Amino acid sequence: GAQRTKNVLILMSDTGGGHRASAEAIRDAFRLEFGDEYEVFVKDVWKEYTGWPLNDMERSYKFMVKHVQLWKIAFHGTSPPWIHCLYLAAIAAFYAKEVEAGLMEYKPDIIISVHPLMQHIPLWVLKRQGLQKKVVFVTVITDLNTCHRTWFHPSVNRCYCPSEEVANRALLDGLESSQIRVFGLPIRPYFCRAILSKDELREELEMDPKLPAVLLMGGGEGMGPVKKTARALGEALFDEELGRPIGQVVVICGRNKTLASTLESIQWKVPMKIRGFETQMEKWMGACDCIITKAGPGTIAEALIRGLPIILNDFIPGQEVGNVPYVVDNGAGFFSQSPKETASHVTEWFSTKTEELKKMAENALKLAQPDAVFNIVRDINDLALQRGPLTSIPYSLTSSFSYPI
Ligand code: UDP
Repeated sequence: GAQRTKNVLILMSDTGGGHRASAEAIRDAFRLEFGDEYEVFVKDVWKEYTGWPLNDMERSYKFMVKHVQLWKIAFHGTSPPWIHCLYLAAIAAFYAKEVEAGLMEYKPDIIISVHPLMQHIPLWVLKRQGLQKKVVFVTVITDLNTCHRTWFHPSVNRCYCPSEEVANRALLDGLESSQIRVFGLPIRPYFCRAILSKDELREELEMDPKLPAVLLMGGGEGMGPVKKTARALGEALFDEELGRPIGQVVVICGRNKTLASTLESIQWKVPMKIRGFETQMEKWMGACDCIITKAGPGTIAEALIRGLPIILNDFIPGQEVGNVPYVVDNGAGFFSQSPKETASHVTEWFSTKTEELKKMAENALKLAQPDAVFNIVRDINDLALQRGPLTSIPYSLTSSFSYPI
């Protein structure tokens, strides 16, 4: 029979590039798998419907990750559930009406949260509206290992964990194993399915066709010791004896314009491509042989899919710490905060240790989970179907209320 289009609301926030990237990956996978059956909205409900501090998370986050000590306190200080529950309850009491209106505007049949602070309040709204049994609510965790406990809420229909490590944390925090699925981190479908030839990519991207290439980046914001590492690579990849470069470098600065213009102003001895925010990361990764990056989950998962050995040179304290052993213990790369050491790893990979580079590329591919995003949307579709034939969900926006703490 004629089924009406179901509405999916994805809750995200622009804190770093990762949450938006995951949200858009899920949206695109819904379209590819189910066409018009679903209409997907990606929304930063906080930004649009609340006041400070919720509407300001993007800026507070950028400020805090730049001031690492503050972020450590924020991350660990809010870890005990009673602290974040009280905090969120206070905020909820303040902004509940606005958030509720924001959520209900989309009449969602399914709500997907891809943010650690978007479980409690939306679930309260559903409970208050008596919609818990009607609306599917799932969390898609976007940290590979050490994630914040606000990700875990016992009332969700599913909690998608990118790794077994995260699944174990979910179990410890009281979720049932029936609520948990481990498929991997959702990566943009186009990235997962792209079939690319390195030679063609290098031509398209105007890179040297022969020289081995290293990609250097620092997440969406271009964070970490990118400048020093670029300088160290510029020296190390030039063979003084032969008088020629033994490798080439691509630096993707993301939204960090200062970084890009500083790097542009330097004279380089090796081929060096300096780029701003790129929308076709699969091409740049496909054209390179290894990557240097801070321990961002999105970048790591993408590099694994492309089979790139990874040198991690930085991490955001808290949620990114665990990404380091995830890569290193699985033999897919190294960790080094010294630009010199990083550059000499790459130099060895491109000269005396090509076998090691190959082996690590194989290990990277073994860890890759290119089907994660498709498995997630299929499972959400199954959950929606289990709800039986969809009738219109009775949303109300009128009555007054108070929130339980
Ligand atoms: N990214 C991008 N273009 C850029 C820089 C980064 O598309 O110029 C993407 C990158 O491919 C990844 C995400 O932004 O999907 C960064 O996420 P990650 O979790 O690595 O770090 P974050 O920026 O969230 O801290």
